[in-house]
Amino acid sequence: RDLLANRVKTLTPSSTLAITAKAKELKAQGIDVIGLGAGEPDFNTPQNILDAAAQSMAKGFTKYTPAGGLPALKQAIIDKLSRDNHLSYKPNEIIVGIGAKHVLYTLFQVILNEGDEVIIPAPYWVSYPEQVKLAGGIPVFVESTSEQNYKITAEQLRNAITDKTKAVIINSPSNPSGMVYSREELTELASVAVEKDILIVSDEIYEKLLYNGLEHFSIAQLSDEVKTQTIVVNGVAKSHSMTGWRIGYAAGNAEIIKSMTDLASHSTSNPTTTSQYATIEAYNGPQDSVEEMRRAFESRLEVIYPKLSAIPGFKVLKPQGAFYLLPDVSEAALKTGFDSVDDFVSALLTEANVAVVPGSGFGVPSTIRLSYATSLELLEEAVRRMDNYVKSKW
Ligand code: PLP
Repeated sequence: RDLLANRVKTLTPSSTLAITAKAKELKAQGIDVIGLGAGEPDFNTPQNILDAAAQSMAKGFTKYTPAGGLPALKQAIIDKLSRDNHLSYKPNEIIVGIGAKHVLYTLFQVILNEGDEVIIPAPYWVSYPEQVKLAGGIPVFVESTSEQNYKITAEQLRNAITDKTKAVIINSPSNPSGMVYSREELTELASVAVEKDILIVSDEIYEKLLYNGLEHFSIAQLSDEVKTQTIVVNGVAKSHSMTGWRIGYAAGNAEIIKSMTDLASHSTSNPTTTSQYATIEAYNGPQDSVEEMRRAFESRLEVIYPKLSAIPGFKVLKPQGAFYLLPDVSEAALKTGFDSVDDFVSALLTEANVAVVPGSGFGVPSTIRLSYATSLELLEEAVRRMDNYVKSKW
C-alpha cells in the first residue's frame, strides 16, 4: 500500500534549500565552503522591531489572534500600501499569513480548480510551479531569454492564454533574475490580462530592493480595473530582514481574501502573534534601516558584478533589483568538461567550495543563481575561487 498521496509524489524539495543544506553539511565536516545559495538578507532584524516584539510578549500578547491577522497589523499594511504604492484597500481586502510563501500557497488553494492553468514566466521562483500543482492547477511556462532581459512580452502572454487560464504570476523585481518590469511593460501585460479576464498574482516581495535610482511600481497601480483583478503579495522578509519571523500578506478581491481567511482558520489559526506585533512596528516605525540595507546590497553589487562578468565563460546581465545574480555559465561548464550546468554546480561545491544554486530549478538550465546577501569579503573570495577553478580547468 502506498504511504503517500499522489499529490505529493512529484514534489521535489526546494533546490535553494537543498543546496544550502548541502553546504552546511560540508561546513560541518570542517570544509570552508562559501554559501551563496540562501535567499535571505545577512542583516539582523532592526532593533526597534526586536524591542516591539519583546514588549508585546511582556504585555501578555501571546494568545491567538484573528485568523487573517490583527486589526492593527492590517491597518499598518493598509497604510503601507497607501504610502508606498498609492493603493487603497479596506481591512476585508487584506490577509496576513505565514510569510509570502504560505500566502501564495493559500491563494492558489482557493482560486484553482483541477486543471486550471497558471502562467508562470520563466525564469521563475522555484515554489510557484509546485504550489500551483499542489492546488490541482497546471503551471504553463512562458520562456524569456537573456536577450529580452528575462522578461516576457505581452504577445507571449497572449499566446499562452487558453480558456483554462486562471492567472498569471508577475514577480518584479524578480527572483532569480533581478529584472524589473517597467511601467510600460506592465501596462501592456495588464491590458492582455484585463482583456482575457485572468487574475494577476503580483509578487512584490523584493519591492524595497531596487538599484540605480529605480522606483517600485505595482501593476495594481495602473487603474482600478487592473487593481480589481490583481492580488498583491508582499511581506517583511526581504525588506526588513525578517525571514524567520514568517509574516507576509495579500491584498485584493474581498471574496478571495475571505476564502483564504476561512482556509487559514482551519489550517494555521493565525500567523505567530509575536511576529505580527513585530511587523506592526516594521511598518509603522522608522524605515531608515530598510534603506541602509538596500544601499549595502547595491554597493556589493557594484563591486561584484564586474568581477563575476570577468570570469571566462560567464555571461551576466546586471540586475536591477533583489539580491541575486543569474549568470549564464553554459560556456564555462562546457569548456571545463561538463555536460550540464548542474554537474558544473556540483563541481563548484566540492572542488571550488562555493555553493550556488543551479538555474535548472528556476527554469533556466544554462544559468546559476548566486545571492549577494553576504559580506563583500566572502563574495570576493567566492568569485576568486570560481575564477581560479574555471581557469584551471579551461
Ligand atoms: N516570493 C519570492 C519571489 C521569493 O523569493 C520569496 C522568498 O525567497 C518569497 C516569495 C517568500 O517570502 P517569505 O519569506 O515571506 O515567505
